[in-house]
Amino acid sequence: MIPIAKPLLGEEEIAAAGAALRSGWVSQGPVVARFEQEFAAYVGAEHACAVSNCTTALHLALLAVGVGSGDEVITVSHSFIATANSIRYCGGIPVFVDIVPETFNLDPALLEAAITERTKAILCVHQVGMPCDLPRILEIAGRHRLPVIEDAACAIGSEIRIDDRWERIGKPHGDIACFSFHPRKIITTGEGGILTTRNSDWDQRFRLLRQHCMSVPDTTRHSSSQVVFESYPALGFNFRMTDIQAAIGCEQLKRLPEIIARRRELAARYRLLLAAIAGLGAPVEPDWARSNWQSFCVRLTDGCKQRQVMQSMLDAGVATRRGIMCSHREAAYSSAPTVWSCGIGRGNCRCDSNRCQRLRESERAQDQVIILPLFHQLDDEQQDQVVSALRRALQ
Ligand SMILES: *Cc1c(COP(=O)(O)O)cnc(C)c1O
Repeated sequence: MIPIAKPLLGEEEIAAAGAALRSGWVSQGPVVARFEQEFAAYVGAEHACAVSNCTTALHLALLAVGVGSGDEVITVSHSFIATANSIRYCGGIPVFVDIVPETFNLDPALLEAAITERTKAILCVHQVGMPCDLPRILEIAGRHRLPVIEDAACAIGSEIRIDDRWERIGKPHGDIACFSFHPRKIITTGEGGILTTRNSDWDQRFRLLRQHCMSVPDTTRHSSSQVVFESYPALGFNFRMTDIQAAIGCEQLKRLPEIIARRRELAARYRLLLAAIAGLGAPVEPDWARSNWQSFCVRLTDGCKQRQVMQSMLDAGVATRRGIMCSHREAAYSSAPTVWSCGIGRGNCRCDSNRCQRLRESERAQDQVIILPLFHQLDDEQQDQVVSALRRALQ
């Protein structure tokens, strides 16, 4: 059986986790601080704050830019549900715009029409590791003085060309970028997330909020020769990463260049092998973007065959997944306050899910795309097996 994904973990991660356990400090401590520094250096960020996962990272990012009850945040429905959920955790209202079908990312041409006086932020996604059109999004956001949060959950190691320079996602180019270390992403700490920003006030705020808004952290009290009483000036959360996870993360960071290189090699090979198969659309990488290929999405020209093709491949021992979900089609969103904006009109997206035309490209992508196995350990022979299973399924 060829799985859809598989984390690359070895003896180094096992030893690092063991060393953290032996140190006696297992919650958030010095290793989390080291992981943050190493991650910030990798993406070129001034500040990086580690948290329990990317969902909590998005939640803190939205709080930092001031999203509160009734505020609108423009985003895409076509993303993992955590993107839209994070807006609702703050009491905000997700405003869904459609995607560009080629890149599966927010269509900047639809952005301006979605902005109202209630808009508080833009939450764009680098879907499955493919950078979204940040230059155009940032230009529009800048004109309206709106903060931009990048959901970079899948985009560690992805690059974008800005002013003729290639830069890693996470610098960040917007105001805050949020990453995930879930096993389905590029590198993993089991669960984990991180926020990057150049705003030191926000970074301080993340550090307070992730730890119950505790005025003096336990690490400081632990090493103090004076008795210290902490206080809790505001409502915080427990969104901490542990030192055990961070120790694994430091080892994973060392593997990152090798992981990205292999994923790009596999993606290029898929492209070659699939070119000969009729009825398939390969993913598009704009000339200003370099994906890390967190997922390799192919579009079936005959979208009605999606389930049948996936089943046939599963029968042949190849796991696949359908296209990225659309949050507005889920029951969790059927009675939630959400707004769609198609560039022409705006309204409440409480339509009968399968007939919603307002987010047409988002829905088509979910219904027509299948995601093929792609992970570091996938060898050429297995990849050939995936391709022939797909060829047979399409016949
Ligand atoms: C995985 C994912 C998340 C959530 O990440 P967690 O670390 O699992 O909370 C958010 N947004 C996108 C686009 C994702 O792919």
